[in-house]
Amino acid sequence: MATPRTAYEENFRDHLGNVAPDGSRTKIRPRKPRGPFHRARVGVSWLLLAVLFGGPFITINGHPLLLLNVIERKFVLFGVPFWPQDLFLFLLVVLTIVVFIVLFTSIFGRLWCGWACPQTIFLEMVFRKIEYLLEGDGVQQRRLDKAPWTTDKIIRKTSKHGIYLALSFLISNTFLAYVIGIDQLWVIVTDPPSQHLVGLFTITIFSLVFYGVFARFREQACIIACPYGRWQSVMVNRETIAVTYDNKRGEPRGKARRDGEDVDGLGDCVECRQCVQVCPTGIDIRNGIQMECVNCTACIDACDEIMDRVERPRGLVRYSSLGRIEEGRQRVLTPRTVGYGAVLVALLVTVVILFSTRAQVQAVILREPGKLYNELSDGRLSNFYSVKIINKTFEEIPVEIRLLTPPEGELIYLGDFSSVPPQGIAEGRFYLALPRNILSAGRNDIHFSVVSGSESVSEITSSFLAPHDVGAP
Ligand code: SF4
Ligand code: SF4
Repeated sequence: MATPRTAYEENFRDHLGNVAPDGSRTKIRPRKPRGPFHRARVGVSWLLLAVLFGGPFITINGHPLLLLNVIERKFVLFGVPFWPQDLFLFLLVVLTIVVFIVLFTSIFGRLWCGWACPQTIFLEMVFRKIEYLLEGDGVQQRRLDKAPWTTDKIIRKTSKHGIYLALSFLISNTFLAYVIGIDQLWVIVTDPPSQHLVGLFTITIFSLVFYGVFARFREQACIIACPYGRWQSVMVNRETIAVTYDNKRGEPRGKARRDGEDVDGLGDCVECRQCVQVCPTGIDIRNGIQMECVNCTACIDACDEIMDRVERPRGLVRYSSLGRIEEGRQRVLTPRTVGYGAVLVALLVTVVILFSTRAQVQAVILREPGKLYNELSDGRLSNFYSVKIINKTFEEIPVEIRLLTPPEGELIYLGDFSSVPPQGIAEGRFYLALPRNILSAGRNDIHFSVVSGSESVSEITSSFLAPHDVGAP
C-alpha cells in the first residue's frame, strides 16, 4: 500500500522545510551522513579548508596570493597587484564570473553549494561534526535538548559553544589576514590589545557574526539569505544535473520488503524517510527540485544504503536531471547553454586581452587649472603642469618626462622627481618653456612621453596656452 501524505507535506512548496505548521522554526537535527559521497566531500572539504587557512601564508615572489585591502585600496591576486584604477578590469572579471556561474549552474545545478561553498563546508564539515562528537547523532541531540540541565549536559553544551566561539575567532582572523595581510595581522596579534582597540572590536564583531551563523542561523543562511540560492529558479531547467529522486522508479512508494521482488506494483521507494532524516535543510528530495536543496548528496548516500538492504539497484536518488528521468536522455547543449557559453567566451577573450595589455605604470599630466602663461626673462613662454605617476609594480622604478612635440621645448622640474616607490604614487610639478615663434595664439597641442629606463610607459597629450601676439614675425 502506498503511504498517504499529510496535507502539510502535500503543500511543500508553500512553506520552508525548517518551518513548522504553526510558523515557528523547526530546529534541524540531521542524522549523521555516511557513505561514498560523504567521504568524497570530506576529502574535498579538508583540501579547501587547507587552502583557505593556508592562503594568507602563501606568497608568490614574496607577495601575497590574495590580498583584498579595501581600507588602503590595495589588491593582489595571484601575486599581481591591482589598483583602484583597474576597476573596469575588476568589474569585467566580476561580470565574467557571474556569467560563468550562470552557465555552470544551468548545467550542473548547485554543485558549488554542496561541495565548495564555505558556508556548507564550515557548517557541515566542521561545526556539525563537533556537534556530533559532543552531543551524538540527530536523535541523541534532540533527546539532550529536551533533557533537564544536568552536569553532563552543561559540560557538553558549554564545550560545544566554547569550541564554536574559538573557531569563529580563528575564521575571523583568517578573513582579516586576507584584508590586511598576514604581517599586519601578526603585529596586531602580538602587540598589546590596547594599541589596536578598533581592530579588536572589529574582530570581536565578526567572530560573533560567524558564531551566530554557524551555531544559530545555520541552514537559514542558504535558504533565506544567500542570493545564489534564491536565483536557482531562474538558472536551472529540466536538463540541469542535480541531486534528483527518480520518481518513475520510486513511485508509488510503500513500506519495505527485503527480497527485491515487485510487491503490489509498488515502486522502489520503501518510504523509510532516511533521505529526509539526513537532510540538513529539512526537505524531502522526493518532492523534486526545491530551493532549499543545497545538493549536499547526503540523501544519495542514505538512499543507496537502503537500496542495498532491500536488494534494489542503487541510484534511486542520484545526480540526474528531470529531462533524463522523464525522457531517458541527457542534453547538455541547449539554446540557453550555447548562448551563455558564447557570451562567456567573448568575455574571457576580452579579459585576457585587457590583462595582457594592462599598463604597469600609469601617468597623468595636466596643465595647472587657473593659470595662463608666464613670460621668461629670455623671452620664452612657460606653462605649469602637474604630474601623477602610479607604479603598480613591487619595484621602485626610475621615471623621466620627455617632450615629444614640439621638440624645441625645455622641461624644468620643481623638486626631485626621478623615481616612483614600489606600489606607490609620485606627484610633482614642472613647467614647460617654449619659444614664442613656434606657438600659435591660444591653445597649442603638445605631447609628452613618460619614460622608465629605456622604455616609454605612457604617451600623453596636453595643451600649452599662448597669448594672441605670438607666432613667427
Ligand atoms: S531513502 Fe530512498 S527509499 Fe527511503 S524514503 Fe528516501 S527515497 Fe525512499
Ligand atoms: S535534499 Fe538531499 S542533497 Fe538536497 S540538501 Fe537535502 S540531503 Fe542534501
